[in-house]
Amino acid sequence: MIEDSDRTSRQLAEKRPPLHLSFEFFPPKNDATEERFWESLHKLAPLHPEFVSVTYGAGGTTRERTLRMVSSITDQTGLSGAAHLTCVGATRDEVDAVVRAYQAAGVNRIVALRGDPPEGVGQPFTPHPEGYRNAADLVAGIRRIGDFDISVAAYPERHPQSPDWQSDIDNLKSKLDAGATRAITQMFFNNADYLRFLERARAAGITAPIIPGIQPIHSFKQISGFAARCGASIPPWMAERFEGLDDDPETHALVASAVAAEQVTELLDEGVTAFHFYTLNRSNLVLALARLLGRRAN
Ligand code: FAD
Repeated sequence: MIEDSDRTSRQLAEKRPPLHLSFEFFPPKNDATEERFWESLHKLAPLHPEFVSVTYGAGGTTRERTLRMVSSITDQTGLSGAAHLTCVGATRDEVDAVVRAYQAAGVNRIVALRGDPPEGVGQPFTPHPEGYRNAADLVAGIRRIGDFDISVAAYPERHPQSPDWQSDIDNLKSKLDAGATRAITQMFFNNADYLRFLERARAAGITAPIIPGIQPIHSFKQISGFAARCGASIPPWMAERFEGLDDDPETHALVASAVAAEQVTELLDEGVTAFHFYTLNRSNLVLALARLLGRRAN
């Protein structure tokens, strides 16, 4: 045990691989939350992320806010902004107009997603009759408009609507073949799921980076709700660690740091060198995790 941890620290100190970080934010709803958005972003900016992405509300409900925030990121922080975009409930022309608005605002990175129906994540998706059919179709549409850096979604535990692994991996491949540069995964808490998924993707001939999406647990109650809705499982050991901590924020925060630290250092030991953090517009846990990965804000 002691030898193992000695070896890990030595490896880290001696041969640190180039690390790529990216951060995901959501568009703030009001002035108070906007203040927190910028405060967190300014704290995280010295970590030199490759990009900072801003999500797109279900059904395109945050179209203007996403555009405003993502276009201000470079001006305010010098970082590269990436805009999420979905094709729910919109015609191709409407979606293309959003892509052109990003282009005009100097945003050249897009996270291209199908999105979920307004009735909820678990409901079947029916494309708009004149809309993009799915994320692969959207990627191809964006490519026709301009030379964007495009990321797409991947699911270490399979997308809940994928009938089997083969179609899940085929679907990821079709998004990358349509012109995406990388995939970013849904949150997961069992690293073995991610590593198995990587093996499956590589075996299918996918060579693009598949970046683990890391969700620090700011609130176990909230995150387990999100996870259930998007098909990410909560391992029993993790539920046990957080059990009874809803009213004990200090212990909850300590357990959350330990859980996320274990997850990222284990992935680093497995050779993972790029991490996408779901920040929920907060900086503290991400700052600590980046430091464990060898990146300091300075
Ligand atoms: P797709 O890749 O198009 O497909 C999802 C599933 O549908 C596939 O597994 C496939 O099995 C099935 N499928 C696709 N095409 C076909 C077909 N032709 N026939 C049969 N089955 C098919 N949502 C938002 O609303 N806003 C966001 O900002 C946002 N950001 C996200 C960021 C990341 C990193 C991730 C992982 C997810 C994000 N989501 C977001 C959630 C995402 O919109 C949902 O997970 C959605 O259910 C699927 O989107 P997708 O792009 O993976 O879809």
